[in-house]
Amino acid sequence: MKPIDSIRTIKGIGEKSEKLFCKLGITTVGELLAFYPREYDILTAIQPISSVQEGSTVILEGTFVTRPHMANVKNLKIISCKFRDASGQIQVSWFNMPYLLRSLKMGMHYILRGRIVLKNGMLQMTQPKILTKEEYHNQLGKLQPVYHLTAGLTNHAVTKAVAAALKECETEPDFLPLEIRKKYDLTGHKKAIRDIHFPENKEAYVKARKRLTFEEFFLFSLALHRMKETKGEKTSDFVLAENEKTEQLVQMLPYALTSGQEKAWEDVRTDLQSGYVMNRLIQGDVGSGKTVIAMLALLCAAENGHQGAIMVPTEVLANQHYEEFVRYLTPLGIRITLLTGSMTAAQKRKAAGEIAGHETDIIVGTHALIQEKVTYADLALIVTDEQHRFGVKQREQFSDKGHSPHMLVMSATPIPRTLAIILYGDLDVSVIDTLPASRLPIKNCAVGTNYRPQAYRFMEKQIQAGHQVYIICPMVEESENSEAENVMDYTNMLRETMSPGIRLAYLHGKMKAAQKNEIMTEFAKQEIDILVSTTVIEVGINVPNATVMMIENAERFGLAQLHQLRGRVGRGKDQSYCIFMAGNSSKEAMERLKILEESNDGFYVAKQDLQMRGPGDLFGIRQSGELYFKLADIFQDAEQLQQANEAACTFTRSDVSLLCKKYDGLRAKMEEYTGEIML
Ligand code: ADP
Ligand code: MG
Repeated sequence: MKPIDSIRTIKGIGEKSEKLFCKLGITTVGELLAFYPREYDILTAIQPISSVQEGSTVILEGTFVTRPHMANVKNLKIISCKFRDASGQIQVSWFNMPYLLRSLKMGMHYILRGRIVLKNGMLQMTQPKILTKEEYHNQLGKLQPVYHLTAGLTNHAVTKAVAAALKECETEPDFLPLEIRKKYDLTGHKKAIRDIHFPENKEAYVKARKRLTFEEFFLFSLALHRMKETKGEKTSDFVLAENEKTEQLVQMLPYALTSGQEKAWEDVRTDLQSGYVMNRLIQGDVGSGKTVIAMLALLCAAENGHQGAIMVPTEVLANQHYEEFVRYLTPLGIRITLLTGSMTAAQKRKAAGEIAGHETDIIVGTHALIQEKVTYADLALIVTDEQHRFGVKQREQFSDKGHSPHMLVMSATPIPRTLAIILYGDLDVSVIDTLPASRLPIKNCAVGTNYRPQAYRFMEKQIQAGHQVYIICPMVEESENSEAENVMDYTNMLRETMSPGIRLAYLHGKMKAAQKNEIMTEFAKQEIDILVSTTVIEVGINVPNATVMMIENAERFGLAQLHQLRGRVGRGKDQSYCIFMAGNSSKEAMERLKILEESNDGFYVAKQDLQMRGPGDLFGIRQSGELYFKLADIFQDAEQLQQANEAACTFTRSDVSLLCKKYDGLRAKMEEYTGEIML
């Protein structure tokens, strides 16, 4: 068995499982092995019932003292019974497992593992796993992988497939040169892969992670260095010197640019007329006003007779930018075209025609902009907004759509400058370090669920004052084994709780794009008072009239993500509020959320979070969401990033094309990584 073989070669994977794996993006054995666990489970010691606490996952040993009883609640069949040990008893319940009615035996010894929740004022264990004594003792203390799943595929099935692949798959020589492995004390690739799936203990996990994050960063860094080396400073066909309309736009804006914006715009304008290709990153916290810089740059391209395009990560954001651009730029005689994946074939054809025939000046869109079919008549500038959602490869593909167009990328990820220089090694950096002066800082509070009634009353008041509210829930639908608040049920519950007349709607990632756009448009037009949403609204959305955000189960999100989310409010002149609602009020969860209470500064939040968690945190939530890293996290693994970059630098200086025979493995890996043949 080889890494490139289909996963069908693994015993036990037939046509049906193949399809399910495919949904997770896994078609080959190699891809399966690179499908790292999301987290790990550790069996802990058995606890007396009398000592359990809300919100924790515990293991109990005892017997059932009441017969299992089944009740129908909404669409769920809930089985419950009482469980007892020497110290006390507790109610236990399961969803949709009716066969337990017959299989649970009174008086027999059981070991249960599950979460403790508070229901109707009583502690309960929900949806526990039932273990035999033998299973329990075999697994005690070991880390069990927990994978991302899709409906129909169990964690057990993935675990089994990975174990089989590890056993059968042939080893290739390690692609990281020995000198590097020695210098940075890195485990071999094969061992690291084995240990990331099935670590014997925490040390093995930490070592495996160290190696794998290093290799991710190393490949990334090497690709970047090569790109910079081979491109160098390039002269540009597009010298964009006319600036009459951009001046007009600045005059037209309902506000004055902040000093940070002015400086960024000055940097961009200088680049555009320099005669060299611009490669610039604009970094600015959420709400610092990056969009207008993009708009000015695109307008400049248009006014000089060329085309400019801006790519954003979501349809909703594309629509929003499109409308804003139309509002400001059509009066200046600029033609704007929208191109997104959800448009009908006819609409797409029309857009593509306008783009190819130079019947439009500025194009706003999603990934659809870099599809093969789209050709640009005269592309002088490309902008990627929310850059952290795109990979380097996509940036390159976008660039290939023109003849070395100018490039502007915008990101709100609060990374320290030292890291930004590495991560965006091929770019010049402008930082917008000011927020518009008219803004009042967001007022934050981290609270427990008992604060909800007050929160609802507060929202009603804000709505009466003409404002709008976001409520964020982590899930779409009720799921069997999660207590997390979900969007649908939550909206229904709110309908009953809130005063009649309050207009509610929900939004989540599984809805059709057109539907999402419709809801967002209604929300922007103030036809909706409360929008209950998953994190789909995380990036870029701008509705300044929304002044309250409440995040349910806030403890389930990374702090950086919470910071991005709260950036949806506090965008206008009115006082805004963000309520972080902790679903369990464990001390650590509250301490983490308090960091957000302390500061509205993304850098501060990221730094404090890192200090609290420390490296090698097993259950750490990914912070940065930088898509081009699977395992690595730029905050948590900052040290690895610097070392990998250092190693890549040395390489680039001595042998940029990896021509030496001993680097064959590395060269092959690089070609796979960048998708280009290295000459
Ligand atoms: P982000 O940097 O998060 O992309 P946006 O560009 O979406 O921020 O801007 C957020 C809001 O601030 C928008 O409503 C925008 O019109 C407004 N804005 C931008 N610049 C200024 C400014 N200098 N003064 C006041 N409001 C501004
Ligand atoms: Mg933005």
